[in-house]
Order: sequence, then C-alpha cells, then structure tokens
Amino acid sequence: MSDTKILVGGEWKLGSGKLIRSINPANGELITEFKGASLEDVDIAVAAGKRAMYDPTWYHLKSFKRAAILSNIARLIHRDVDKLAALQTLDTGKCLSETKALVQSAAETFQYTAAALEIQEGELPPSRGDFFTMSVYEPMGVIGAITPWNSPIASDAQKLAPALAAGNAVIIKPAEWASLVSLALAEICMEAGLPKGLLSVLPGSGSVIGDKLVRHPDVKKISFTGGTSTGRLIAGIAADKLMPVSLELGGKSPTIVFEDADVEHAINGILYGIFSSTGQSCIAGSRLFIAAKIYDSFVDKLVARCKALNVGLPNDSSTQVAPLVSFQHRDVVANYVEIAKKEGAKVLCGGELLQGQPYDDGAFYPPTILSGLSNNTQTCQEEIFGPVLVVLPFDNEQDLIQQANDSVFGLACGLWTQDYKKALNFSQKIAAGTVWINTYKQFSIATQFGGVKESGLGREKGRNSILGYMQQKSLYWGLNQEPLSWADPRSK
Ligand code: NDP
Repeated sequence: MSDTKILVGGEWKLGSGKLIRSINPANGELITEFKGASLEDVDIAVAAGKRAMYDPTWYHLKSFKRAAILSNIARLIHRDVDKLAALQTLDTGKCLSETKALVQSAAETFQYTAAALEIQEGELPPSRGDFFTMSVYEPMGVIGAITPWNSPIASDAQKLAPALAAGNAVIIKPAEWASLVSLALAEICMEAGLPKGLLSVLPGSGSVIGDKLVRHPDVKKISFTGGTSTGRLIAGIAADKLMPVSLELGGKSPTIVFEDADVEHAINGILYGIFSSTGQSCIAGSRLFIAAKIYDSFVDKLVARCKALNVGLPNDSSTQVAPLVSFQHRDVVANYVEIAKKEGAKVLCGGELLQGQPYDDGAFYPPTILSGLSNNTQTCQEEIFGPVLVVLPFDNEQDLIQQANDSVFGLACGLWTQDYKKALNFSQKIAAGTVWINTYKQFSIATQFGGVKESGLGREKGRNSILGYMQQKSLYWGLNQEPLSWADPRSK
C-alpha cells in the first residue's frame, strides 16, 4: 500500500474507502494502490466546501484577486508540465506527446478563465419605470465535478477553473482508472494559494462516491463528463433535486469525404481524428462516409497509411498509437470487432491482437478499419471508444445526410471538401455540437464545446463558461420621489 493521500475538505489524508489499484496499461505493472474516499468523506468535503466558499475572505474576494490565484495555478501547471504528463502517461497509457498537450491545455484553461474573470461585468438594462434594475451574478454553492479517465487533467481544468472563478467550492470525483493526476492538480491548486476546504478530490467508485455526491442536498450543480448512460442516471437524480447539470457525453461522429476533397489533407485528418489517443476520444471520427466515385482509391490509400502507423510504448516519441487505458477496456474494444465480423464486416487492417513485445505485456489494440457494414449495425451505432473506424460509401447527398444524422449521438462531424458553399450547407444540416471543415480534432479554449441529442446538455469553455457556474439575481432600485401609490392613503 502506498502513502498516496486524498484531499478531503482541505486536509490531505489516507483514504478509508475502496482500494484503488493504478495499473500501467503499457506493461501491466502496478503503479500504486491506495484507499479512496469513504461515504463520510463526501459529507466532510461538502460541509468544508460550503464553509470555505461563504468565508468572507473568499466570498468577498475581489474577482481580480481570485483571477490572480487562477493565474498562479496556470503558472504552476506550466512549471510541472513534464511531471504531470509523465504521471498521466503512466496511469492512462496515453502517448507522452498527447499528455503534454493535455497538461498545457489545462494551464491555458486556467489562464484564459483568469482573463475572462478579470473583465466579467454585470448588466444594467435600460430603466422601464421609477426604478433601475441590474443583474448580478452569484456563486451557486458546492459544485460536483465528475470526470472520465481519457483526458483527466484537461477535463478537470475545464470544470474547476470556471467553477472556482465563479466563487464556488468544488469537489472532483475523478475516474477510478485515472485519479493520480487529479490529486497532483489539487496539490498545485493548494500551492497556488487556493483557500483550504474550497477543493476536495475524492477518488472512488462512481456508483458509490459519485452517486452520493450527485444526491447530496448541499451539492448545487453537477458538471459531468462521461458515458451517456451515466449521464442519463445523473440527470434523473438532478431532475428530482431540481439541480442544474451540464453533461458532456459520448459520440459516434461522422466524417464525410466529398469527391472534391484534398485527399492528402483528408487522410491525415481522418487518421488523426480516429486513431490519436488510441480512439479513446469522445469526438473520435468513427464513421467515415466517402463519395462512391473516389471510394476505392481513397480507401486503398487510407488503409496503406493506417498500416504504417507506429503502435508502441507511450514514452517512445515515435509512437502514434499507444495502449488502451486498461486490459478490461482493450477486451471491450476487441469484442466490438468480433461483433462487427459477425455483422459481416470485412477487416481491411488491424482487427487482431498484436503479437510479440511490447504488445504481449500491454493493453494494445491495433488501428482497425472495417468495411461492408451498413450504418444501422451495432458497430456503427454504438460508441466503441477505441481505434476502430468503419468506412461507408455514399452516392446520394440527401441519403448521406440522413445516414450521418442517423445516430443517437450528436457531438461532432468532419467535412472534407473544397467547396465552401457545400461545407456551409452540410454544417447547417448536420446535428452536432462541433463541425470541423477541412480539419479535425482541433480545440480552442475560446470556443464553446458540447453536444446535442444524447451527446450532452450545456456547453463548456469560452468566455461564458464562468456564468455556467453562477446564478443570476435581479436588483430593483427605487427612484420614485413619492411612496408607491397603491397603499398610499393620500392617493384615495
Ligand atoms: P463513465 O460514465 O463510466 O464514467 C465517467 C465518470 O463518472 C467516472 O468518474 C465514473 O467513476 C463516474 N460514474 C460512474 N457511475 C456513476 C454514477 N452512478 N454516479 C456518479 N458518477 C458515476 O465514462 P467513462 O469513464 O467510461 O468515460 C468514457 C465516456 O466518456 C465515453 O462515453 C466518452 O465519450 C465520454 N466522454 C465525453 C467527453 C465529452 O466532452 N463529450 C469527453 C471525454 C469522454 P468510475 O471511474 O469510478 O466508474
């Protein structure tokens, strides 16, 4: 048992909850094991959060001073980029180059949010009577931030930075498979001067610790990123509590290659869109529709380029496709490919476990391209969350839109065409929160992100992200010289 401590209500302590075993998916070795949070810890964290956020030193802290703490957090994340990236790579198996980018994006999130907070303003609508009105924005209370394992530090930052900026207390429930980097981020927040008690990190099982957090009467909003079925469960409980939620959920995003696409750009974008992060990405472009006239030649080139991708250890700088997060998840992905074969899929590349070292010891799965399936198969309808791409030809644009939108999800879409009118037309018809045109999986903290349909509710990022963690209050200021006439005896 290691001495890994968890942060409960401002105190670092050894947990007394579920045993958490952190396994390196690249070689199956145990990194650490420690006890997570108990149910009692949830109560302690919520009570401490409530106390800390209403403490005048935080509640009345001028927003530019709160912004200074967020900037400090950004600076310290930058200082520790290598350490944080290495930790996340160890815990999740992601390529070091990817985890470095995630850590940098977390720092940018804090920096951007600090800047947005400094210039945030209330509203003074024009007067419509003997009064003037103003809108002020207040913190909501204790916020529960529940995050998944695929990009933990970036997901944590996207919730933590705006929620703290808004003046709230935050309790992070990280994914059991990737808690270590959330604890490291909490250490940085404390070092940066965040008041004690304002942040807790409670590793533990989602159905126990996460569930208690969602149901807790003093938790005033849940910001969740994860699978659609968990999101639906949380939304049900929230409906009962009349508590707002924001939900960033799953996807099965279509990518469309039109006849006039720049083939080199499209192939690079498509490979990156599905196989980076070993496909463990909510916005992975997993359904690829290709114009029938160029289908054969495009697929030949795509498959050849896919076969050349380097599958290897996450610390190796030449690796493009690293192991999956766990052996359990690798088996889920492999099973989906077996289902696809039963559904009649032709395996164009990948589709079998790789043999030899380092593959025998780690949770590797090769980039896989499947053809011969129709869009209504299980393989095309369910999120696999792994390096599996299905290619589908189309020859009718009306039918294409119908198929691309034939999914319960609506997170993202990629369009490859040199015809800007066509791109605009399709971007308007596609049901998705984000449409990439002649690029894919590019992100900006300044641009909002979220899904439609079963891919989610609400938006993260952008200047308005802080308002997502505030409640608006209207103030009416009377300007009348005389008393209000209704009850005034002088007006009878
Ligand atoms: P899960 O929904 O299984 O888990 C996400 C988080 O919720 C984890 O911390 C988990 O804890 C917790 N949790 C599980 N059950 C409950 C519960 N009953 N109450 C409260 N919390 C609970 O998703 P995965 O971790 O498997 O993540 C992958 C999913 O996340 C994919 O569907 C992916 O598309 C989606 N995702 C969406 C993104 C977006 O922005 N739209 C971004 C990244 C991922 P524990 O780990 O202990 O189970």
